[in-house]
Amino acid sequence: MFEVNEQLIERALIIGLVHKSTDKEKELHELNELEALAKTAGAKPVEKIIQIRDKVDPTYYIGKGKAEELCNIDVDILLFNESLSPAQIANLEELTGKKVLDRQDIILDIFAQHARTKSSKIEVELAQLNYNLTRLTGHGRELSRLGGGIGTRGPGETKLEVDRRKIRKRIDYLKKELKKVERTRDIQRHHRDGIYTIAILGYTNSGKSTLLNAFTNANTVVNNQLFVTLDPLTRIGVTNKGNKFLLIDTVGFIRGIPTQIMASFRSTLEEATKANLRLILVDISSEKFEEELDETEKVMEELNILESLNILVFNKIDRIVDNAILNNLKKQYPNAVFISAKNKTGLNDLLDKIDDCKKHFRN
Ligand code: GDP
Ligand code: MG
Repeated sequence: MFEVNEQLIERALIIGLVHKSTDKEKELHELNELEALAKTAGAKPVEKIIQIRDKVDPTYYIGKGKAEELCNIDVDILLFNESLSPAQIANLEELTGKKVLDRQDIILDIFAQHARTKSSKIEVELAQLNYNLTRLTGHGRELSRLGGGIGTRGPGETKLEVDRRKIRKRIDYLKKELKKVERTRDIQRHHRDGIYTIAILGYTNSGKSTLLNAFTNANTVVNNQLFVTLDPLTRIGVTNKGNKFLLIDTVGFIRGIPTQIMASFRSTLEEATKANLRLILVDISSEKFEEELDETEKVMEELNILESLNILVFNKIDRIVDNAILNNLKKQYPNAVFISAKNKTGLNDLLDKIDDCKKHFRN
C-alpha cells in the first residue's frame, strides 16, 4: 500500500467571476462541480471564492487588487472556472507565484489519468496539444502576420514559432497513429457482431457503474469521483426472456464540457454511438436533474444519437421520499423507467423494456 504524502497533494483555490451579484447562485453550482473535478484530478480544494466585477480585467482577469490578495493564501493552484487568456495566466502566475489552471485543464488531466487504451491515450494527448496550440496562437497574434512556410523558417524564427511547429508536427503524427489504432479496433469489433450491445450513458455520478454492477455483479470500480470510467467496461447481462446482451459502462458527461473536447474523444465515445441501444441514466435526486438531462441530450445530439434507440432511466428513486413527486415525474415521463441501481429496484421493468427494444433488432 502507498502512503499518501500530504505534502505532495496540491492545494487549490477555486475562483469564479460573475458580472452581477444575481448570477452568484449559478456560479456557485458550477464551482461545486469544479471542486468535485479538482478532487477527481487529485488536488485538494481548500476554498471557493466568487468575485463580482462589471468587466473582466484584461491584465489580471480578477483585477490587480484581488490578485495581490491571493498572494498570501496558502495554495499551490489558482483554479478558475472560465478560460483565461495566455496573458492573464502569465501575469497571474508571475504576480502570485502559483500555478494557474482552468476547468478545461482539469478535465483534460482527468482524461489523461484515466486513459488506459492506446486510442484514448492518443486522444488525450491530441486534446492537450490542441488546447496548448490555442493558447500559443493567442500569444502570437502579431507573429501570425508573418505567415508560415518559406521565408519564415531558419534564423530569426521565434521560440513560439518553433513550439507551434513542433506541436503541429506531433499532432499530425498522432492523428495518423489514431487512424491505425482505430482500424485494429474495427477488426476486433466484428467479433462481437450478433450480440446485442447496450451502452449506459449519462451525467457523471448518475450511477452508471452501480447499474452495471447491479445487473451483472461485475467487479467494476464504483466510486464517487467524476469520470471514473474512461475505458468502456463491458459485461454480459441477460433479460427475463433469456436474451443475452453486452452492457457497456461509458465515460460520463459533464455539464459545460466544451463540445470541441467531447468531439475529440470520439473513439472513446464510439462504444456509445455504435451500441444497439442506449440507457440514458439520470440522477433523479440531483436538484439540477432537468438541466443535466438537457446537457446529456445536447452531447447526444452532437454525436448524432439523440434520435437513435434510447431508454430514459431515472436512477436513485430511493432518495425521493415524497411519493407524489415520484408519481408526477412518472406522468411527466411516461416512457421512462424508474430504478434504484443501489437497491436493485425497478430492474425488472428495465429488463422488460430492453426486451421490447430488442424486438426491433435484426441480426
Ligand atoms: P457513475 O459516475 O455514473 O459511474 O456513478 P457511480 O455508479 O460511481 O455512482 C455515483 C454515486 O452514486 C455512488 O456513491 C453510488 O453509490 C451512488 N448511487 C448509485 N446509484 C444509486 C442509487 O440508486 N441510490 C442511491 N442512493 N445512490 C446511488
Ligand atoms: Mg462510473
